[in-house]
Amino acid sequence: MVTNQCPIYCRFCTRKRLVGKPGFISKGDLDLAVDYIRNHTEIRDVILSGGDPLLLTDGHLERVFIALRAIPHLDIIRIGSRVPGSLPSRITESLCAMIKKYHPIYMNLHFNHPDELTPEVKQACGRLADAGIPLGSQTVLLKGVNDDPDVMKRLMQKLLTCRVKPYYLYQADLTQGTNHFRTTVEEGLKIIKAIQGHTSGMAVPHYVIDTPGGGGKIPLLPTDYLVDLNSQEAVLKNYENRIFRYPQAEMEKVSTTGRPPHGPFKILNNGGNE
Ligand SMILES: *Cc1c(COP(=O)(O)O)cnc(C)c1O
Repeated sequence: MVTNQCPIYCRFCTRKRLVGKPGFISKGDLDLAVDYIRNHTEIRDVILSGGDPLLLTDGHLERVFIALRAIPHLDIIRIGSRVPGSLPSRITESLCAMIKKYHPIYMNLHFNHPDELTPEVKQACGRLADAGIPLGSQTVLLKGVNDDPDVMKRLMQKLLTCRVKPYYLYQADLTQGTNHFRTTVEEGLKIIKAIQGHTSGMAVPHYVIDTPGGGGKIPLLPTDYLVDLNSQEAVLKNYENRIFRYPQAEMEKVSTTGRPPHGPFKILNNGGNE
């Protein structure tokens, strides 16, 4: 977290008790972070977050990149940012020219509604993409804002025209004071069902719940795609609700005596010996 400054105050932000506090990462804190990563050779991917890292000056951001790129085992640097969508004029040619010296750099942007993708925003995303930065998007499912399959499909399609690949659709976190934005999980699954198969697969994000209690993100898929899975076949239902039978590869000898019927999530992982 390189700053708590952000170009926009999201009411549903999980860090809003911090956002707006002044200041940017100090030399001392950057050194500590870099030392930590240097001493943990299992770390291959670092996310610059905040606040919003793109509110650092070009020079300050470059100092962070230089420090990180001195770590041989660090492969990927990611930036999470709302700047391209909220302050597109910050995405200057000189910023892009600086960033591209430190590839591979990935960016995940945050958009919740197709109306956010104005011509200025599209141009800002284009400048980042032209600098070779793969762009992904993160969206929060919000009641009354985008909890509508048509709005969400339009958002995902429009992101692709801005050269942004939809990455995550988040079930809204339990942030105090924002219960009126929460939807049911069924709502999210319905939205994924309305996109998958009905338009380009590129437009389908991973629908995830960031588990309260630090369990990380857990992906959710509509349960009805896999009707049955047994040692013989997978019974599948497509986006039009048509049923398909897909024969399994020959498995090593499974128990042939009285194969029990299996529900959608019961997978034989013990060689068939229940
Ligand atoms: C989402 C998230 C990440 C990144 O997760 P990926 O699945 O690798 O994109 C890392 N840290 C935190 C706290 C996150 O919420």
